[in-house]
Amino acid sequence: MIAKVVTEVALDREFDYLVPPELEPDLRIGSAVQVMFRNSRREGYVIDFSETSSYRRGELKPLTGLSTGRASIPPRLVELGRWMARYYCCSREQAIRTLLPAAVRSGKIRAKTRRLFFIPDTAAAEAFIAENNERKPAAIRVAVLRLLLSEGARPLESLRSIAGFTPSPLQTLIKHGLVAVNEEMVRRDTFGSAEVLPGRPLPPTPDQARALATISAMLENESSPGVLLLHGVTNSGKTEVYLQAIAEVLKRGKSAIVLVPEIALTPQTVRRFRARFGDELSVLHSRLSDGERFDEWNRINTGAVRIAVGARSALFAPFRNLGLIIVDEEHESSYKQSEAPRYVARDVAVMRGKLESAAVILGSATPSLESLYNVRTGRFRLERMAAQVEDKPAPAIHIIDQRLNPQEPGRSNLFSPPLVAAVQERVEAGEQVILFLNKRGYARMMICGNPDCGFEAGCPDCSVPYTYSRLRSTLSCHLCGRVIPAYETCPQCGSPEIRYSGSGTEKVENLARGVFGGARIARMDSDSMRSAEDYEEVLDRFRRGAIDILIGTQMIAKGLHFPNVTLVGIINADIGLSMPDFRAGERVFQLITQVAGRAGRGDRRGEVLIQTCKPLNETILHASRLDFDGFADDELGFRELMNYPPVSRLIALYFRGENEAEVVRYGEWFLKQLAPYIHDDVMLSALTAAPIERIKGKYRYLATLRGRKLRIIREALRVLILHRPRPKGVEVYADVDAQSLM
Ligand code: ADP
Ligand code: ZN
Ligand code: ZN
Repeated sequence: MIAKVVTEVALDREFDYLVPPELEPDLRIGSAVQVMFRNSRREGYVIDFSETSSYRRGELKPLTGLSTGRASIPPRLVELGRWMARYYCCSREQAIRTLLPAAVRSGKIRAKTRRLFFIPDTAAAEAFIAENNERKPAAIRVAVLRLLLSEGARPLESLRSIAGFTPSPLQTLIKHGLVAVNEEMVRRDTFGSAEVLPGRPLPPTPDQARALATISAMLENESSPGVLLLHGVTNSGKTEVYLQAIAEVLKRGKSAIVLVPEIALTPQTVRRFRARFGDELSVLHSRLSDGERFDEWNRINTGAVRIAVGARSALFAPFRNLGLIIVDEEHESSYKQSEAPRYVARDVAVMRGKLESAAVILGSATPSLESLYNVRTGRFRLERMAAQVEDKPAPAIHIIDQRLNPQEPGRSNLFSPPLVAAVQERVEAGEQVILFLNKRGYARMMICGNPDCGFEAGCPDCSVPYTYSRLRSTLSCHLCGRVIPAYETCPQCGSPEIRYSGSGTEKVENLARGVFGGARIARMDSDSMRSAEDYEEVLDRFRRGAIDILIGTQMIAKGLHFPNVTLVGIINADIGLSMPDFRAGERVFQLITQVAGRAGRGDRRGEVLIQTCKPLNETILHASRLDFDGFADDELGFRELMNYPPVSRLIALYFRGENEAEVVRYGEWFLKQLAPYIHDDVMLSALTAAPIERIKGKYRYLATLRGRKLRIIREALRVLILHRPRPKGVEVYADVDAQSLM
């Protein structure tokens, strides 16, 4: 028998090794093994077996042995890793590596253990006690045996309490076989000492009952349970549905994975799961130490816990009998990994569910168009939860036309008079306000500075804004490659006043301090929050009412529950709309919906004010009516027309290097190699400078591939990327199902 092994050496190759007969019984797909590779010892994983090899028998080396420090990977996870390598055009080694936390892969971290002393033979111990009960010199030995008999296995510390105890009596007992020692794995405590009161399932609402019935039916179909999109407004009780679905999975003897965006992995969420499932639960958040991560992985791998909750990478929790995967907030862009393998956790979850016959639930208040499209084409089921559990009215949403906002020289018009008045009124009434700022991307757009015009330079063929390059003084479209010289005056109104970017949170905070003098203001964004403690600290002050106005980015859009917040202001809805990205509208819709969900969670009805220069923009109108279906119909129509995802698939190819001419030359050569695979259904763009033209001194170029069936191209890409020579200093990678083009 021959084993195909991937090693930690970064090569996209499987190496063949002979399996020595004595290892055969212990070897599985996923086993961690030692091999000799070019005269040095390496660690690797078996990812397949075969009868044949393209090498001749005499040339094959045998496996050296099983790895001593490493755990094996469940075989079906290995299969998932191989699929990821193929689908995401990355090396197998990269994909396999993703399956294991670094703490486990390194082989350096060991389980924390403690020595436990116990009595192997009760009768012998009792006989010893009976014989020596009266003998003074044996008093300590007798006391030790008595304690172990009554208490069971104990660590050394708890034997110390015996008066005058020194180790030698214990050693004597061990020597005579009256006491034995066992090593027990100790879990590094990840919950701290916080006590959590047990919680009970709540009687389901009619919406919840319907969703749960569908999930039961899915679980009943054990061979292919399928995927459910759970589209439920904020507070409709989705989390309660997850909790009850998991309980059912446990009852069926299986395990469950719950993925949440990292930002949602707050103590409140964790507490809710802990209250229901206690020690059955493993929480995998980014703050775990290596040792803790190692322990949790092993607890999952050995079946000591049956539920894993965590961000993206928890998807690879090594359960061996998975029954359910939940992806909460499935539309979140943080499910995309930005380094290889550039996977989308939601999509890999669906694949893992398929490979392991586990049900998959994708939950969101604003589902991704990808998932909605899968519902409409019959691949996913859909359940809706349209009502809030407490049946609160949706917030009142008003659009403020920023073009009517008078521009006074030397004064910012960031805050419109209606917004200022509304904020002041709420603050005076002792209520709280959230001001939401759509963070601008790195790309710079050309916008006319004339408030009556608002012209925005965009590509006529792709309906995305042009990206402005200061270096070259050009406007370019990264989707089709068109480049034009930057306008010197506005082509619509002739104004020479041209602007290139938006406002940052810091500037907004400073301006707000001027406008709302006297109000207590705090800012929350990824620049001002250096740690999870910072984040908790600001939220806590806000909760206690020590802050009147909270200003922030995406970070404050989600999941927070503050009953005293009655007003949410969206300062610049437009900046998101004009990102050079065909998903810009979708993101803005999601954000407005989510931000709106923060208003009026208490007794008073909430109000949302949206400032925009595009009050007639369809996305903003749909969002202001909380009309998901209307938005989705429009947007899917647009995607269909333009052949964008989810109707087609999109792969972005990035080329980068310090020498721009070489990057371009290689990029052009690369695209030429793809030419034979291009046909009517596949569109290949020209090579253009990426919107972020240089990162860390490297020039970046971008080309996109779009089409409904890209399987063959994917194979060609893998060969070109991984196995063809490249000029030194030039890199290439594919971003399959790219979520943004930057
Ligand atoms: P979502 O995840 O959709 O935002 P949650 O599951 O968090 O909704 O539920 C919102 C609130 O309603 C929570 O405080 C939760 O405890 C409560 N809740 C959920 N389901 C029920 C129910 N069936 N009966 C009573 N309260 C419920
Ligand atoms: Zn274009
Ligand atoms: Zn203009």
